Amino acid sequence: MTSPSSAADYRVIAGRLAFPSKAYIDGGWHEAASGKVFENINPATGAVLGTVAHGDAADVDKAVAAARRSFEDGAWSRAAPEERKAVLLRLADLVRAHAVELAVMESLDSGKTIKDCLNEIGHEVPTFFQWYAELADKSFGKVAPTGEKTVAMIVKEPVGVVGLVLPWNFPLLMAAWKLAPALAAGCSAVLKPAEQTPLTALRLAELATEAGLPAGVLNVVPGFGETAGQAIGRHNDIDVVSFTGSTEVGAYFLKYASESNLKPVGLEMGGKSPFIVLEDADIDDALIASAINAAFWNGGQNCSANMRQIIDLKVKDTFLHRVLEKTRALVVGDPLDPGTDLGSMVSAEHQSRVLSYIEAGKSEGARLLAGGGASAGLPGCFVDPTVFDGVTPAMRVAREEIFGPVLGVIGANGVDEALKIARDTDYGLHATIFTRDIDKAFHLAKRLPCGTVAVNGFTEGNVTTPFGGYKRSGSLARDNGTEAVEQYLQTKTIWVSLR
Ligand code: NDP
Repeated sequence: MTSPSSAADYRVIAGRLAFPSKAYIDGGWHEAASGKVFENINPATGAVLGTVAHGDAADVDKAVAAARRSFEDGAWSRAAPEERKAVLLRLADLVRAHAVELAVMESLDSGKTIKDCLNEIGHEVPTFFQWYAELADKSFGKVAPTGEKTVAMIVKEPVGVVGLVLPWNFPLLMAAWKLAPALAAGCSAVLKPAEQTPLTALRLAELATEAGLPAGVLNVVPGFGETAGQAIGRHNDIDVVSFTGSTEVGAYFLKYASESNLKPVGLEMGGKSPFIVLEDADIDDALIASAINAAFWNGGQNCSANMRQIIDLKVKDTFLHRVLEKTRALVVGDPLDPGTDLGSMVSAEHQSRVLSYIEAGKSEGARLLAGGGASAGLPGCFVDPTVFDGVTPAMRVAREEIFGPVLGVIGANGVDEALKIARDTDYGLHATIFTRDIDKAFHLAKRLPCGTVAVNGFTEGNVTTPFGGYKRSGSLARDNGTEAVEQYLQTKTIWVSLR
């Protein structure tokens, strides 16, 4: 992928984009059944990008009917695995070929930086389609040890029609996290993007048709959570839901399932993840880059953001000094400028929410060392990267998910206290540990109740490793890795008695 190098170039591309505006159902574009539309706003400028079909229960019904028909006709669900693989590999190539267009579209839609959008869409999204494509024809069933007189096969079958309800923080990447394994498994899908960021998922559906995905296998219904999202959650002909978003809405999906067809629900939800620095850690460039990335990547709008930075008191001053230096050097501004580190928050509503947490930090007595408010002189929903020292475990900023660029430092006296503070949370998505002592690293890794532990470098892992949360961060389902496919498969025993 060759990408332009200036904001001016990206603005030219932006000017030429045609934004999708309708639902994508059964291989074609459809207005909402109600005829309603909603405005889609660029949060970095406040400009209206266009209107999008406001899908609701009637459109979800239509999409589910198309998905069910496609599932039953078997053109995808019963296709040979190598045929599914070929289509998904073509889709990966098409995403690569259209990466710059998609990245600009996503940046305009979400306020995310073009740098991040290019990385996610140019590299990660196609990698997901490619990896699960390659897995499609390399997954075997089992034969049970039942003795001479029988053959008992344990086979996996696609679960059917899956409902995928997505957040706005990584719009196309989250679509790929869920769609790639679901489609590789042979399922048909009804996908609802977040209302703030519907564009790239819609464009992806069109590219999937171009790649050869049969009509009805991937349907995208833009709309609002309480209508389209709830209709997916309550639909009696959707077999599984996979959701990423807030813990509050994740809980609704359990309720919807219990009040409809008891569909299994995979949940990937909020976090309040710790970043632990022990006294023996080298406070070097790599550690500081990790600390900054852990708190400020994607403007902190990241479920695995390590906002609670628990630093041994012996190294806290050095750590803070270096973190502040880096924080002050971060560039906040035009998301289409390749030099920008932090773009806009996704919406004015979300900006207010983040700012209210910053005010809570100040009023609860945390010491503000950097940032602390909306970015001056910028037209959209920007928030300056903010650093608090003197955060205590009881403060709201230490307990509730902020989902914005706020780094809070909590001092700890030794490894045991660091572990105690780190464990003191309702969430369990992620943790990072810095230490040179491998024994301490493993001790902490085993004692931290969360789905991913990163040692000596902040990372969520990659396509090969499962991602999901303990406690109020998730269900047993996992995105990514071979585990993700399990969400979209069911197990059948075929018991043959031999004569
Ligand atoms: P939500 O959890 O509200 O949204 C996630 C998805 O669920 C969206 O597609 C949304 O639709 C849909 N949804 C919302 N309400 C319902 C409902 N009642 N029934 C069915 N579906 C629904 O996240 P928000 O966008 O409101 O963000 C709020 C907070 O959630 C953030 O501040 C952050 O703390 C957390 N969050 C966590 C994410 C993660 O990756 N774990 C991602 C996004 C947010 P719609 O967009 O139309 O509302």
